[in-house]
Formats: sequence, structure tokens, C-alpha cells
Amino acid sequence: MAGWEGSNRRQTLPPNWAEIRSRILKRDGGRCQWVRGDTQRKCLRPATDVDHRISSADGGTDDDSNLQSLCGWHHRWKSSHEGGQASGAARRAHKQAAPKPVHPGLVADRRELEPPPF
Ligand SMILES: [Zn+2]
Repeated sequence: MAGWEGSNRRQTLPPNWAEIRSRILKRDGGRCQWVRGDTQRKCLRPATDVDHRISSADGGTDDDSNLQSLCGWHHRWKSSHEGGQASGAARRAHKQAAPKPVHPGLVADRRELEPPPF
């Protein structure tokens, strides 16, 4: 069955995932642990997901130390930028390609309306 190959993007979760998940959410105070690239501060929005810091595709484990609570927005952002291959290097490259400085007045306005860029 060729169909099985390539559909491996979904990570395999341990059988007691529900238990692990609630433990991690509790440990993190139910808040998103994503550190924003622009402010170096944690997002701290209400967390709805538990994420592998290093995905299992990249050799990450299901150990608590590799798990973090994320809000839905950051989980989606991370997942869509991960793709099973992108790691630190890709993220740095992405950052270097970041938009050039805009007039501060304009930036302030847009930040209010858009979700965090990182
Ligand atoms: Zn977040």
C-alpha cells in the first residue's frame, strides 16, 4: 500500500497522551509557553494544545521536558512552519528575512490587529 508513505506528518502519540497532556497544561499554568521572537517573552495566552518542542520526526521524545503548552494560534503556526524538517536553522533564516523596519507609528497600529508574528 503506497498510500501509507508520506502521510506520516501526524505524530504518534503515546497511549496515555490525555494524561500527559493534562499534566503539562497544569505544569504550565494553562498558559502558552511560546517565547515570542520579537519580545523574548512568553505568549501566556490560554493554552489549548500540548506540543512537542522537538517533533518526534526530529527525534524528540514524549518526555515532559520536550513538551510545552501552546495556544491554538502558536500551535498552528509552529506546525505549519515545521513540516518535519525545519528546525532552528530554518527559523533563523526566516527571521533574517524578516521585514525591514517600518515607520513606528504604522507598526504600533498593526500589532493591535494581527496575531503575534512568532
Ligand atoms: Zn501563544
